[in-house]
Formats: sequence, C-alpha cells, structure tokens
Amino acid sequence: MTQQAWAFLGGKQVPLEDAKVGVRTHALHYGTAVFEGIRGNWNERTGKVVIFRLKEHYERLLRGCNILRIDLPYSVYDLCKITTDLLERNGYREDVYIRPLAFKGEQLVANLNLKTVEDEFTIVIVPFGSYIDNTRPLKCQTSSWRRPMDSSMPTGVKISGLYTTSILAKTEAIAAGFDEAILLNQDGTVSEGSGENLFMVRDGVIITPSETDNCLLGITRDSVIRLAGEELGMDVVQRHIHRSELYLAEEVFLTGTAAHVIAVGELDHRAISTGETGPITKKLQDLYFSSVVGDNDKYSDWCTLVSPSGG
Ligand code: PMP
Repeated sequence: MTQQAWAFLGGKQVPLEDAKVGVRTHALHYGTAVFEGIRGNWNERTGKVVIFRLKEHYERLLRGCNILRIDLPYSVYDLCKITTDLLERNGYREDVYIRPLAFKGEQLVANLNLKTVEDEFTIVIVPFGSYIDNTRPLKCQTSSWRRPMDSSMPTGVKISGLYTTSILAKTEAIAAGFDEAILLNQDGTVSEGSGENLFMVRDGVIITPSETDNCLLGITRDSVIRLAGEELGMDVVQRHIHRSELYLAEEVFLTGTAAHVIAVGELDHRAISTGETGPITKKLQDLYFSSVVGDNDKYSDWCTLVSPSGG
C-alpha cells in the first residue's frame, strides 16, 4: 500500500487528494500568488532530510506577500514549523521539493483590487530527483523573450504571474533543442535563466547581474556569493553584463534551488571556453553540494534537519 501523502491547506494538514480549490479562485485567473521552491535533500548517512535555507525562503515569500498584499496569519517561524511538521508526517526518505503557495483564494472572478480579495496558503511536498541533467554542461539559448522590468512586474520575488515569461522562454529553448534559456532585459543586458541566476567568470573575476537587472534574488545565488568569498577568497562583482560578454567568458554557470550549480557549456551554438565545466564552477559546485546535504559543518546554520516519521 502506498503511504498517504499530506498537504497543508485551510490552516491544517489534509490528505493531498482533499487539497483542492474552486474554479473561481482569483489566483487561477490572474496569477495573484507568491510561491517558493525549497529543496529537502535526503542524507542517507544521517537518515534525515536536510531542508536548505528554509528561513530565507520564507523571508522571501513574505516579501512577495507584502508586495501582493497577501496577509498571512503566520510568521517566518510559524511557516518553518508548519513545513517541518508536514515533511515529517509525509515520511519521505528521498529528495523532495517543497512548494508553499500564498494566493488570493477568494471565489470571485471579476475583481482587480487586491485589497478586497481573501488570502489562502497551501504547501505541497513532492519527491524530486534532478531537475536538469547535472552530469554535463548545459546548452543554452538566448531567449527571444525578455525578462519583464520591475517597473512592469516585481521581479525580486516569486510572483506566479511572472512565470509566464520563464515558461515561454524555457518551452522555446527546449523546442529548439537546447537545455535552458537565458533571458535578456529590455535594454539587452543579461538578466538570468528561466529558473536560475547567472554568473560568469572573466579575467578571473566572478560577475553576476545585480538586483536592478530584474533578476530574482536567488537563495542559491546568495549561497554561492558567500561560498566564493569565504572559501575561494573571491568577491563576486554585481554589475550589468552584455550579451556578447557571455560568449567571451572563461566560465558561465547557473544557480537555482532546482538546478543547483551547473555550468553552461554552450550558448547560441558557441562553446564557452572549452565547453567543459570550468575550475571555479567545479569548486563552487562541490562546496554547494556538500552544504545542501548537510555535510559541511561550517554552513550547518543553512540546514534544517527533519527525521521522517511516516504515517
Ligand atoms: N530565477 C528564477 C526566475 C527562478 O525561478 C529561480 C528559482 N527559484 C532562481 C532564479 C533561483 O533562485 P533560488 O536560488 O532561490 O532557487
């Protein structure tokens, strides 16, 4: 018998098959929701699921709620506790993806005033292996879709409606035989991947677009900036990146909760350097991997450990 899966909805844990919303839900029509993507990594040695930077994910979720005027009755501490209780009950002994979603839940179709729409909160947890093939560098395409500017749509948080652009870009890239899309800003400078932040190495310096380049303030991005500084003694420069700089870079890599740290080997049919994972990317990949599974004691404050109980 397969084990019962549990979700969180309406302020309590419910069987996953009962976690449903109506067809008039505001968020379904207008994308008025804020979500997070959080990884729980199964550590066979310790028998625990390691949730990576749980607190920071909920801090970002609440920043998004503030922008979308979603008023949750929970603090970051409450949200972390709700999540660890739910994960424990689900009893997974494998890698999982945790998806909290704060949304405009009112059954009300024609209303564009956020203030009058009721809020809801749900969490689902699903088993999750690799999102992208991590065993080889990616072949990427500069997308024909541009990243929206923050003046059109807040870009530093995960607002559901914003993802239409990422989805169009990713779909276009896959259909054209690439692994991933890289989106430019309206002015043609580089923003990020469809679901990852972007870094490049030029003349031995690690460079990434800044917040004002309309990229998401990624938690993996933040972790990599800290690892580069503390472990490699390399401060990351945040500045505009021109498209053609990527073709000339020594290394380009993407970072994200789902994708981890992964090299870009080829962009628009041009090899980046040798086309292989570069030495700085490799070091950061290894440091990051040991941190996300809780094997790097120095960064244990990034990890929340959960013992699966099942039931
Ligand atoms: N950019 C976008 C558009 C994303 O969806 C993600 C994934 N959340 C990222 C960057 C990387 O963010 P994080 O490292 O917090 O997962």
